[in-house]
Amino acid sequence: MKILIVGGGGREHALAWKCASSPRVDQVFVAPGNAGTAVEPKVSNVDIAADNLSGLLEFATAEDIDLTIIGPEGPLVAGIVDRFRAANKLCFGPSQASARLEGSKAFTKDFLTRYRIPTASFATFTAANFDEGYVRAQRLPLVVKADGLAAGKGVIICETHDAAVSTCRAILGGSFGAAGNTIVVEEFLQGEEVSFIVVASDQQVIALATSQDHKRRDDGDQGPNTGGMGAYSPAPIVTPQLHQRIMREVIEPTLKGLREDGNPYLGFLYAGLMIAADGTPNVLEFNCRFGDPETQPILMRLQSDLIDLCEAAINGTLRQADVRWDSRAALGVVMAAGGYPDAYRKDDPISGLDAAARLPGKVFHGGTAIEGGRIVTAGGRVLCAVGLGDTVSAAQSQAYNLVHAIHWNLVQYRLDIGYRAIKR
Ligand code: AMP
Repeated sequence: MKILIVGGGGREHALAWKCASSPRVDQVFVAPGNAGTAVEPKVSNVDIAADNLSGLLEFATAEDIDLTIIGPEGPLVAGIVDRFRAANKLCFGPSQASARLEGSKAFTKDFLTRYRIPTASFATFTAANFDEGYVRAQRLPLVVKADGLAAGKGVIICETHDAAVSTCRAILGGSFGAAGNTIVVEEFLQGEEVSFIVVASDQQVIALATSQDHKRRDDGDQGPNTGGMGAYSPAPIVTPQLHQRIMREVIEPTLKGLREDGNPYLGFLYAGLMIAADGTPNVLEFNCRFGDPETQPILMRLQSDLIDLCEAAINGTLRQADVRWDSRAALGVVMAAGGYPDAYRKDDPISGLDAAARLPGKVFHGGTAIEGGRIVTAGGRVLCAVGLGDTVSAAQSQAYNLVHAIHWNLVQYRLDIGYRAIKR
């Protein structure tokens, strides 16, 4: 089989690595990939951007690709799956209509309300109907969100009414471009955050191993929000009872609602949840794809074949799929470029990758490139070093052994990934 992975980050390196391990797969292409996918056995990069839908379809047709798996949300929200389907090419991911769960926060809030799925109370505004009085009447803090895709930056937590009003006006005034033509103003929820990721095929669903990520840049979950500074699996907060509640109160009604709306879901579905003190799983967001960095530790634990799983979902035989997990824990530490998550450094040569490759665990590349024969930084989240172990703390020490072998100028990473699980 020939597989095409669309995207070029750590998630896509992990997807490509896992697909390449299937005995059924001869070759994996990654568009555009990174320096890690360039050297992975059976994997090669193709110089086509993830948002070049026509270029990707042309390549998949010319190369006779058997299955395409989409990593990032951009191409999904832009309708890549519909384009491939119309050309009779197998593509794993949701249609444009069901990808709106990630593409529009206002759509999702309305959807959640219609199907009585727990979420924070909210109001939606455009510049034409913005109501400052509503905002000033709400309890603080308040969460202001741009409706559309904003590269993970479109959520702002405001501690004062003045800040909330000026944030609303700035977003409606264009600070996030068209993604902010509509805004959602939302109640601030307390609790512990959980990522819950499933593979869904209309009403059939398989929950992947549980995971939890660390969104803040600094130790102790302090500092600015990022795309994710590390993640681990399993997440002990997701007890069997909570697992059951999430399936019953969030995942099942979501898939049922999508079907009732005429948009049956296919693909990875990621629910970002805030678990309230009474155990209510409130939906913060949906992503219509696998998470980054959650993919890296989750796929390290997947023992069965990922291609079989995607095919079962596409063929509607997900219930019979064989999914097996390594009972060990996996933990990934993101190594980021200096400056991230603001403007960050690029082109810093990375040393120690060969030494790390001889250690147990696996280093997945995110923002890397090859320049003049050297591997250099080329993105904010550069690498994700993943360790395995009988406990989260054993996985953590394996991951940090990898991290300590690698260096570049002004590299930054957290020293406490997994601390909540270890404390439990
Ligand atoms: P989102 O992209 O909607 O998941 O928001 C990004 C991050 O902002 C989440 O991971 C939460 O940490 C935080 N967040 C979003 N909405 C809320 C909320 N209603 N209450 C508290 N924190 C929130």
